[in-house]
Amino acid sequence: GEVDFKEDARFSKHMKEKGEAVSDFAKTKTISQQRQYLPIYSVRDELLQVIRENQVIVVVGETGSGKTTQLTQYLHEDGYTTNGIVGCTQPRRVAAMSVAKRVSEEMETELGDLVGYAIRFEDETGPNTIIKYMTDGVLLRETLKDSDLDKYRVVVMDEAHERSLNTDVLFGILKKVVARRRDFKLIVTSATLNAQKFSNFFGSVPIFHIPGRTFPVNILYSKSPCEDYVEAAVKQAMTIHITSAPGDILIFMTGQDEIEATCYALAERMEQLVSTTKKGVPKLLILPIYSQLPADLQAKIFEKAEEGARKCIVATNIAETSLTVDGIFYVIDTGYGKMKVYNPRMGMDALQVFPVSRAAADQRAGRAGRTGPGTCYRLYTESAYQNEMLPNPVPEIQRTNLGNVVLLLKSLKIENLLDFDFMDPPPQENILNSMYQLWVLGALSNVGGLTSLGWKMVEFPLDPPLAKMLLMGEQLECVNEVLTIVSMLSVPSVFFRPKDRAEESDAAREKFFVPESDHLTLLNVYQQWKANDYRGGWCNDHFLHVKGLKKAREVRSQLLDILKMLKIPLTSCGPDWDIVRKAICSAYFHNSARLKGVGEYVNSRNGMPCHLHPSSALYGLGYTPDYVVYHELILTTKEYMQCATAVEPQWLAELGPMFFSVKESDTSLLEHKKKQKEEKTAMEQEMENLRNEQAEIERR
Ligand code: ADP
Ligand code: MG
Repeated sequence: GEVDFKEDARFSKHMKEKGEAVSDFAKTKTISQQRQYLPIYSVRDELLQVIRENQVIVVVGETGSGKTTQLTQYLHEDGYTTNGIVGCTQPRRVAAMSVAKRVSEEMETELGDLVGYAIRFEDETGPNTIIKYMTDGVLLRETLKDSDLDKYRVVVMDEAHERSLNTDVLFGILKKVVARRRDFKLIVTSATLNAQKFSNFFGSVPIFHIPGRTFPVNILYSKSPCEDYVEAAVKQAMTIHITSAPGDILIFMTGQDEIEATCYALAERMEQLVSTTKKGVPKLLILPIYSQLPADLQAKIFEKAEEGARKCIVATNIAETSLTVDGIFYVIDTGYGKMKVYNPRMGMDALQVFPVSRAAADQRAGRAGRTGPGTCYRLYTESAYQNEMLPNPVPEIQRTNLGNVVLLLKSLKIENLLDFDFMDPPPQENILNSMYQLWVLGALSNVGGLTSLGWKMVEFPLDPPLAKMLLMGEQLECVNEVLTIVSMLSVPSVFFRPKDRAEESDAAREKFFVPESDHLTLLNVYQQWKANDYRGGWCNDHFLHVKGLKKAREVRSQLLDILKMLKIPLTSCGPDWDIVRKAICSAYFHNSARLKGVGEYVNSRNGMPCHLHPSSALYGLGYTPDYVVYHELILTTKEYMQCATAVEPQWLAELGPMFFSVKESDTSLLEHKKKQKEEKTAMEQEMENLRNEQAEIERR
């Protein structure tokens, strides 16, 4: 279908006037004048008064009103940092980094000094830090070490409306901290109006509204459903750039690949246009932003475009509420977003593309009305908005695997997870599935308590299977090798594949292939980089992202510290990498697949189809192995196995659920099978008991 909008000429003229007035704002005003212009500034004293009088409050304000950047500073100015620090949690790592940087500039201090941030594997705070931005996951892990969070005087739980999994768990944990520590304050912020729920959860605490200052946004729908939204968005952006008044453009896409494709297509169109147009074409600054983008490139979205140039930011839903860029007058909304969803049919989480909710679509549109009246082009029909979109997003806790949460809560001695104070309890089936998976990995005992393996797994800020792989390295004496693989899996892909040099870069990648395994290929890359003295030039020659590899090296050293603390020696298997494949198999047998046709597999447990990714090293074997395990399944046009390793079928039998009992008692396969069956029955019984208990609670 063609996307077809009607333009309103009068509206464009009005906007042009507005646009010129406001887009100069950031250029001409000092940082402190900018601070005073924010809506939150007009209610600063009132807000501080309410905070003084209450232990917990909820703050509601439009995106861009100054909640994230100003609240922490106000608290500092009001004396809360004289005994303790102010923490502020973010569901997204990009937001934590970017906002910390901004606030350090506003306070005229180096990032990492008075103002710092912490995200997984990256701590940019120091002894002087009094305002600490961090992901909600980081604060959650801090509660493992210090359940009262004694170093914090105030915690701001920002972006609560996002209802991220970790934020939801923090709600329950911080509620207890509030009850135990009278000197502790909690501020929950939300960009949307349904904050009553947060208030109720903490016992009807006050809700403070920051008055809004927004401009009308003209919303235009596509007349018919759009088949290729990347193409449609590119076309729309070009039309705006050529025909509409000044003002920057913000495009919402679902993820990195689409963002890159969009940016590439935009750059191409601009090039064509420049070469075919005689009179000059105004410059278009094309700026991608997504969570895996390196920080220095992320920061570019805030830079001012030169005179006469227009910015076009292409973003994931990170730009929905977490980050605010001034000067956006046009929003192009595809209506889609990526969400991690537990798929019961597959028995695992999968990142899938879904239509966003109406609330999210409205947030997206609102981004065009921050500095003046704007326009939002929706690349979907009005009827899709009305009839196909959910009114609100489903909280993450309701839709994802809870493996990490279960481990964490168990280690906090919360024996019965069904008793935990969740704002919206996860479906019992999710809890049980996650417990089952942990039990299969050997982290939970038959009665649902943490095993010694489980206790060790909690120490690592990793998903349970990766932690298991690391700990299997201990048993199989290949910690050194597995550590590298786990680190490489914890960073974005290190392979660099520019579109205009695709063949050349593919050939470079193939040189690293270890035909049995994509995991071992990663190990090979890292070891060769090391053998070349970790040189950046070497990376460039081999089409590898030096930043990614450096990050992997950092992650590796942090995980090594944890291994040292647990007194696990750094054993190595040398060149015998079959052992490493066995360790990989032990962590991922739930993601095992059986060969069905060339490159075609089915999941061994549930028969779901899955395919080798075209970039897999396994094609180098010359034949496709009968059994593989894989890191994760990516759903695009097909179900692709991301990062696969060939395994021996007997490993799957041996390492499957009861690996530990086999190793310990050396029973015959038959006895082993019998025992396995018994333990499975015991676990099922346990699950059944839990279910009955829950039913009992519900009846009461
Ligand atoms: P809220 O949390 O209420 O959505 P913020 O505190 O994030 O609002 O944003 C307040 C203002 O600070 C916005 O105008 C935004 O553009 C600006 N801002 C935030 N981060 C940066 C940054 N890294 N660089 C420049 N400006 C920023
Ligand atoms: Mg914010």
